[in-house]
Amino acid sequence: MDYYSRQITKLIEELSKLPGVGAKSAQRLAFHIINLPKEQVEQLAKAITDAKNHVRYCKECFTLTDQELCPICSSKTRDHSTIMVVENPRDLAAYEKTGKFDGVYHVLHGAISPMLGIGPNDIRLKELMQRLQAEIREVIIATNSSLEGETTAMYISKLVKPTGIKVSRIASGVPVGGDLEYIDEITLLRALEGRVEL
Ligand code: ZN
Repeated sequence: MDYYSRQITKLIEELSKLPGVGAKSAQRLAFHIINLPKEQVEQLAKAITDAKNHVRYCKECFTLTDQELCPICSSKTRDHSTIMVVENPRDLAAYEKTGKFDGVYHVLHGAISPMLGIGPNDIRLKELMQRLQAEIREVIIATNSSLEGETTAMYISKLVKPTGIKVSRIASGVPVGGDLEYIDEITLLRALEGRVEL
């Protein structure tokens, strides 16, 4: 039975599909949206569709961008021979915020997880290996310190080592299971500076 109008029920239903939004928050958000001025609702809807329509993957590092190449990959001042491998664009953003890493990134969009049925082919690993055909000096693996992140790090190091390219792993000290995006900048910098060769 619909307690609200069909449209509101539909809005609640769509909102509750978002990650981290339960039924209650979906309801709260829906009513908040309904009470907003019309222009604001239109701006919100437009921001969502614009983002979806214009954002794509950088063809080099696979982060989200609105250009063929993201600003980092197209920058001439970055060190293109050092690639930091991260799980998602949020981790990239966390490292960028420190302002201390001048290399480039590779975004895997996930981590290997046998439990969830996510294998090496489900993340952007093949693309990473293709990038290694260029002049690369070091691959820094900055996947999370969760089980999946560690599994992925091990897998990557096994793939990269035979190429003779230096592979390193950011230092632990990053809390176990901690998502990189929640870790403060100093901890991230320490993890980067204290990285160990694999
Ligand atoms: Zn890029």
